[in-house]
Amino acid sequence: MTWDFSTPAAPEGGAGSGAVLDGNAAAGEFAGILAGDPTIATVRCAGCGAAQAFGQLPAYMGGPGTVLRCRECEAMVARVARTPRGTWLDLSGSSSWLFSPAPGRA
Ligand SMILES: [Zn+2]
Repeated sequence: MTWDFSTPAAPEGGAGSGAVLDGNAAAGEFAGILAGDPTIATVRCAGCGAAQAFGQLPAYMGGPGTVLRCRECEAMVARVARTPRGTWLDLSGSSSWLFSPAPGRA
């Protein structure tokens, strides 16, 4: 399993460290922790209950860590931060993750 960090999704609203990408751009950060491909997941927001595809969640990758936000209410649904102490995974903003069987996978 390889992840290409060199070609993130095209930023919307201009380039820069604060550019908002999408969940596909954040997939590599999460794939290193989750034992699978996060882009097949449907994530339910704990705040508003909206269920959204991981790859369509707005991703904020400019700050410390990678933050995914809800498309509906903009609450943080997931965050990964790598620190000298280790990697933090914060899923407190999501109520559930549904991993559907991906087509083409054994
Ligand atoms: Zn929400």
